[in-house]
Amino acid sequence: MEIELYSVRIVLIGILNIIKSQIMKNLLFLLLSSFVLVFSCANISNSSANTGVIPYPSGKESLKDTLTLIEYPEKVWQQLLSAEEYEILRMKGTERAGSGTYDKNYKTGTYHCKACQLPLFDSKDKFDSGTGWPSYSNFIHNHVEHVFDGSNGWSRTEVVCKRCKGHLGHVFTDGPKPTGLRYCINSASLKFK
Ligand SMILES: [Zn+2]
Repeated sequence: MEIELYSVRIVLIGILNIIKSQIMKNLLFLLLSSFVLVFSCANISNSSANTGVIPYPSGKESLKDTLTLIEYPEKVWQQLLSAEEYEILRMKGTERAGSGTYDKNYKTGTYHCKACQLPLFDSKDKFDSGTGWPSYSNFIHNHVEHVFDGSNGWSRTEVVCKRCKGHLGHVFTDGPKPTGLRYCINSASLKFK
């Protein structure tokens, strides 16, 4: 009888030990995962604190530096742009046809990106498309980027500024010779100089 009780005690102690070590394992896992979580959160806040340190371009940079990517937090863009400019350049909006400043502007000069000042279109390439939006048959150097746009059920080619990725408008293939292209651009995305 005594031996039986002894064996039962040994078995019980064994089970208790197993339970204890399981609890310890769980505790250790919890401790480790909270450490990893705290560490990764610290990293996230560090990286967001580092964004937006790029100085605002003056428009006087040498051509060599002009295509360095500009990435500002949305809060900074909101401060730099008017509500309409922000809606178009950052939220891919479209101004009402005929409402823009440059639709009927045929002076000689250069159209720069309103957000980052990069020269985008030359007045020699501007033509009257009759659409109500400033239209160009070409762009300056490689200063614009073409992006597929499948929004609203259409297949269009969006045009964005190479340096700040700001939305400018769309390009269509019904333009004048020699390019046959029509860059349909929002006035609010541009600054004429
Ligand atoms: Zn830009």
